[in-house]
Amino acid sequence: MSMMLYLNGNIYTMDAAQPRVEAMAIDSASGTILAVGDNDEVRRMGGRYAELVDLHAKTVLPGFIDAHIHLADAAHREYHIDARDALSEDAVAALVRQRAMHTPKGQWIVGGQWDKNLWPGQQFPSKASLDAAAPEHPVALWSKDGHLLWVNSLALQSANINVETPEPANGAILRDGSGEPTGILAEEEATSLVYRVISKPDPVLTRQLVQRILAELQRFGITTIHDIEGESTFQLFEQLRDEGELGVRVNMILPRQMLPKLRAVGLRAGFGDDLLRLGGIKIFADGTLGSQTAAMLESFEGKPGNFGILTLSEQEMKETVSAAAEAGLSIAIHAIGDRAAHVALDSIEQAQHLLANAGITAKTLPNLRYRLEHVQLITSDDLERMRRLGVIASIQPYHAVADRDIAERYWGKRHRHAYAYRSMLNLGIPLALGSDAPVEIFEPLRILYAATMRNDTATPQRPPWLPDQALPVAQALWGYTMGAAYAGAEEHRKGSLTVGKLGDAVVLREDILSVPQEKMPENGVQATILGGKVVYGELDL
Ligand SMILES: [Zn+2]
Repeated sequence: MSMMLYLNGNIYTMDAAQPRVEAMAIDSASGTILAVGDNDEVRRMGGRYAELVDLHAKTVLPGFIDAHIHLADAAHREYHIDARDALSEDAVAALVRQRAMHTPKGQWIVGGQWDKNLWPGQQFPSKASLDAAAPEHPVALWSKDGHLLWVNSLALQSANINVETPEPANGAILRDGSGEPTGILAEEEATSLVYRVISKPDPVLTRQLVQRILAELQRFGITTIHDIEGESTFQLFEQLRDEGELGVRVNMILPRQMLPKLRAVGLRAGFGDDLLRLGGIKIFADGTLGSQTAAMLESFEGKPGNFGILTLSEQEMKETVSAAAEAGLSIAIHAIGDRAAHVALDSIEQAQHLLANAGITAKTLPNLRYRLEHVQLITSDDLERMRRLGVIASIQPYHAVADRDIAERYWGKRHRHAYAYRSMLNLGIPLALGSDAPVEIFEPLRILYAATMRNDTATPQRPPWLPDQALPVAQALWGYTMGAAYAGAEEHRKGSLTVGKLGDAVVLREDILSVPQEKMPENGVQATILGGKVVYGELDL
């Protein structure tokens, strides 16, 4: 049996039974861990075909698991119009004007990442500036959070949106005094009107871009992602897996609209293999803070009467959650405002009752997980309810530091209870960490810095934001490994370096648990190991 022996390491296993070891042996054929322990114990495992790797006392952790990412979307946003550094409406229009000069007339100009909260006045932009920049191209630009679509007149025409278009029930078409659409569409029921008429991206290009970003994930020590995207991305992952080109494991979370199809086939969470597995479905309960579409129990600060948007009716939410749970599909509910979290938990509570009454137990559906995505604002009663119902908090700590100013602006004094990760931890709510890329960065060491320092590496001079809510390093690491594995119902295969689990690991240049915390982001990834094989970086053979 051929195997890889990793020796002389400082290995944090994330397994309480054996938290720190020197060495591990990984079976090359199955990619699973055969032994962990001290050098001698592990060396004894090796037969004559063993390959030895000297870790030179470097720190090893289980590979990072990003529990919330939109990978193909992230791959595309780098390629199309990228307005994240444009600090005004005019600056974005200038990017569009440039792109229009090199784009055949009539062809869509797409992209996004614009953030009006960074612009003077923080007003929503309008179609007029895009019309002036690109009069002969339909233009559609996503906001940074992906919840607003800014379009020009040609795009509105292609989608047949005009003064007579009825207002969607769970979305919004922003209009001027005469009812004319201004060029801003909010939330899926409105944005999809345009999104569905945009020509689909070229699959060859998509594949190239996705492969490029998969390599980046490896460079950052990420070995598994929970990818929240649709069927075309799932199909691409299947293709890459079949060709041996999928260098990161994927737990797929599909849009709720696919639930009928998944149920018809009888696909459950856990279906698939170690490289590509079905997780469940994603449901949007509301919009976002940045777009002021998060569903709120009280109005946004300074915007009386604006309670945000519940993007799914409460009734439909309940039916969807119950149907998915009965089908054995995990349920990931996007909930940013406190009302969204409340409604989501009502649905989960009802689904759990239904399952219990039907005699369905964890034994019948072992891979069913309930998770709230983001949980940026939640009442203390609902936090307690999350704990009681066993709901996972899927959190993206970089949001906390990136959103600090808008949280104070739009939530007023409520911001003090926002992004309350430490409170969740103290209550015993399972945490799963992730990035939400492309909304924010996906580099785990910078995200861990945000989680543990409540600060952004880009602005270290600012005081930490709500430092009481900082996570201890060890618990933040747990959330990026075991916690995320649990959220994917893969804790028996991943998340810790334990005999029988997959040999997925990251080798760091410094000891993350003993370097001063402010040095954490500079502590680069030396190598990434997937199923026992070094897929990024170099180690001494
Ligand atoms: Zn997301």
